[in-house]
Amino acid sequence: MGQQVDFDIVVIGAGVVGLASAYKIQLHHPGISIAVLEKEEQLAAHQTGHNSGVIHSGLYYKPGSNKAKTCAKGRKELVAFAREHNIPYEICGKIIVATRAKELAKLEEIFQNGLENEIEGIEKIGPDEINEVEPFCGGIAGIKVPCTGIIDFTKVAKKLGELIEVQSSGSKVLTSHRVTSLDRHDFYTKVITNQGALTGRYIINCAGLQCDRIAEMDGVETKMKIVPFRGDYYELTGQARDKVKTLIYPVPDPAFPFLGVHFTRKIDGSVECGPNAVFSFKREGYGKTDFSFRDCWDALSYKGTWKMFLKQWKYGLAEYERAFSKKLFLRQLQRLIPSLQADDIKPGNAGVRAQAVGRRGELIDDFLIKRRGNAIHVLNAPSPAATASLAIGDYINQMATEYFKLKD
Ligand SMILES: Cc1cc2nc3c(=O)[nH]c(=O)nc-3n(C[C@H](O)[C@H](O)[C@H](O)COP(=O)(O)OP(=O)(O)OC[C@H]3O[C@@H](n4cnc5c(N)ncnc54)[C@H](O)[C@@H]3O)c2cc1C
Repeated sequence: MGQQVDFDIVVIGAGVVGLASAYKIQLHHPGISIAVLEKEEQLAAHQTGHNSGVIHSGLYYKPGSNKAKTCAKGRKELVAFAREHNIPYEICGKIIVATRAKELAKLEEIFQNGLENEIEGIEKIGPDEINEVEPFCGGIAGIKVPCTGIIDFTKVAKKLGELIEVQSSGSKVLTSHRVTSLDRHDFYTKVITNQGALTGRYIINCAGLQCDRIAEMDGVETKMKIVPFRGDYYELTGQARDKVKTLIYPVPDPAFPFLGVHFTRKIDGSVECGPNAVFSFKREGYGKTDFSFRDCWDALSYKGTWKMFLKQWKYGLAEYERAFSKKLFLRQLQRLIPSLQADDIKPGNAGVRAQAVGRRGELIDDFLIKRRGNAIHVLNAPSPAATASLAIGDYINQMATEYFKLKD
């Protein structure tokens, strides 16, 4: 252990997961130095800065899963963190709405799941109560979820970045530092970036859409690949904004890990509707026609992607149609708000989800975090990882404390 290093820990990726992990480790081990390396000029440039900004309750997730374990805990911590650091948030609640009789069984299943996950205050509601909360919503039955909220996760990420540097003078959050390769040695790793090399005793990979590539640089056999899914949003215009008071979600398709096209009143007062979910030809491409040869090659030369396409082709085609047809997108939205018209929506933002896909084409649903030697790799941190970030940070701190034998 005599080797001199620049930092005790190097975290790769300054999204909310990397920053929350560094923050939690620093909090529990004030004496150690951490570098968080981010390839972009600013923090939260990808998934964290392009998400719906929803503080999820945790009612959907399989009891006992990592998502279920960290979402409710992370939500409570996130709210306390926002309050402490004056980050605007609102616990506005949401409703999940069935619009067709065939969705009622799934709605009941979600409700029972919420009870099992001990989500506070959830209740079943009928059409009248749905309209008390959302007068324009046309549902036949629903679930009211009072503890759901909204926040700007970019603000959360920036505050975490500030605190990491304040907590220890030896720690740094370095933007415009793209990690290009890793050179492993017995007791340290040389991290090569576009701005030169630095050394760290331990590595934590939180690179989101690029996490499988960083893991490969570290020689990890991941048995998965990141396949990017773009989600396009529309925004409600003018007076149509008044048609949504809080958050309105459909009953999700059980075969797919995404929550379906929903309405979200954001913390800045705008109302977003979406996202859909289509295969993206570029991992960090936010336009409908963005393309990267490398990203396409990586995804399409992987058998798991084709197996996934075969399993999900019907769903995938429908999503593609909606991506290019406002009319079809609107029709989907009208299931929840029947009076919505084409003039009421205009194109909004887009986000790309990092979806880990296994070799048999299965969409890996739960958070996946692996240790190998002197490194921890976060290989799947989809929604609700932003909500759960502080709890994921605690989990990674526990792993780091145990495996890296960190001292206080
Ligand atoms: C459309 C959409 C909607 C969502 N809605 C919600 C929601 O409402 N609520 C919720 O809780 N979750 C939501 N999520 C999920 C949530 O946003 C993500 O789970 C979370 O942001 C993941 O954070 P991360 O830090 O792992 O990844 P990211 O935020 O993607 O951060 C990874 C970082 O690593 C950096 N990086 C990559 N490669 C390198 C390299 N070689 N060198 C240096 N840096 C590198 C990237 O630039 C990036 O900044 C949504 C996601 C999407 C895409």
